[in-house]
Amino acid sequence: MRADLRQVLYDEAIAQGVAIRHGIKIDASGVDMINGTLMTDASETISADLFIGADGGESVVRTALLGYKPKAIPHGKIVHRILIQEEDILARPHLRYLVEEPNIIVWLGPECEAVTYGLDGVFNIAFTWPYSTDPKDIFFGAQPVNLDEFRTNLTNWEPDLREIISLGKDCLRWEFFEPIADDERTPWVDEAGKFCIVGDAAHRGLPYLGQGAAAGIESVATLAQLLGKATSQDEVRQSLGIYQTLRKERTGHVIRATLKTGEIWQMADGPLKDDRDRRFLNETPTVGYPNPLADPFFQEWLWGFDATRTANEAWGRISLKTIDNHKGSRI
Ligand SMILES: Cc1cc2nc3c(=O)[nH]c(=O)nc-3n(C[C@H](O)[C@H](O)[C@H](O)COP(=O)(O)OP(=O)(O)OC[C@H]3O[C@@H](n4cnc5c(N)ncnc54)[C@H](O)[C@@H]3O)c2cc1C
Repeated sequence: MRADLRQVLYDEAIAQGVAIRHGIKIDASGVDMINGTLMTDASETISADLFIGADGGESVVRTALLGYKPKAIPHGKIVHRILIQEEDILARPHLRYLVEEPNIIVWLGPECEAVTYGLDGVFNIAFTWPYSTDPKDIFFGAQPVNLDEFRTNLTNWEPDLREIISLGKDCLRWEFFEPIADDERTPWVDEAGKFCIVGDAAHRGLPYLGQGAAAGIESVATLAQLLGKATSQDEVRQSLGIYQTLRKERTGHVIRATLKTGEIWQMADGPLKDDRDRRFLNETPTVGYPNPLADPFFQEWLWGFDATRTANEAWGRISLKTIDNHKGSRI
């Protein structure tokens, strides 16, 4: 659960002697790349050897690195999240199959999908639904939804799904924006090696594969491993350079795979959707199987990332190159 993860990270940071301050806001004009400082909304100037911007999809550190605020382009979809107590589901014997085994069940409908799974006594429903692409309808962050009104859209859906949704008491929704898979032209690091970005600030995707936070943790683990090797400001710069090369490549693949997953799961009615359904029902999952959650090779690639090994190998390659260059200069 998010709260458990946050608590583990918080406790460890405190144990390591990290000073944590809440309620501080930075705006893009407070990021001073030239002097390597940050100014808070209370006009306090903060200096540091390195600032790591983990400030989410609306990152001001990203804006400062780019020199402009990236435009949010609506993806045309919205997600409704409804949380149900599992004990309410267990009280209905015909619905117990949903929670008795750890499982992710994806319910597909035309141009929409509902991903459902249980976690720590709470049953999660993430219902993706078409939404306006008109810029005037844009909203950021979570918005409350009238659940009774939402339920009226579900008359043609599977009765079991409708029944669990009827157990929900409230619902929040988030708008999706087009994800960006950055290439080498978009900096995640400043030239002096004083600022970098991680998590959604660097690689905001869509949640169809449940990978946003997972990719953020991979990035942070890779960055920590690389920074741990640096013994000078020059090597910090080198670590940051390796970090962005490694992570742009992998998160770019994840972002594209996520988009593809959405396209496959949210097909409109028609012959393509009929073909997808036929393949889902009849094919044995193997490379290229249209459901990425069931493709064993893709799953291995997705969950098999080893940040320590990846960072060590990349650092080793750079060190070897440096030794080779030195040898070259002696000849
Ligand atoms: C409905 C939904 C379901 C999801 N499901 C999954 C899932 O199953 N698995 C998964 O891995 N991911 C999932 N994600 C994605 C995941 O939530 C994000 O990828 C993740 O939260 C990103 O973490 P982050 O720390 O980079 O950014 P955030 O979680 O956005 O945190 C950014 C932090 O920076 C702070 N901040 C922002 N701006 C400023 C500023 N100017 N000054 C100071 N502080 C600032 C914010 O207050 C916040 O605390 C889901 C997302 C949604 C919307």
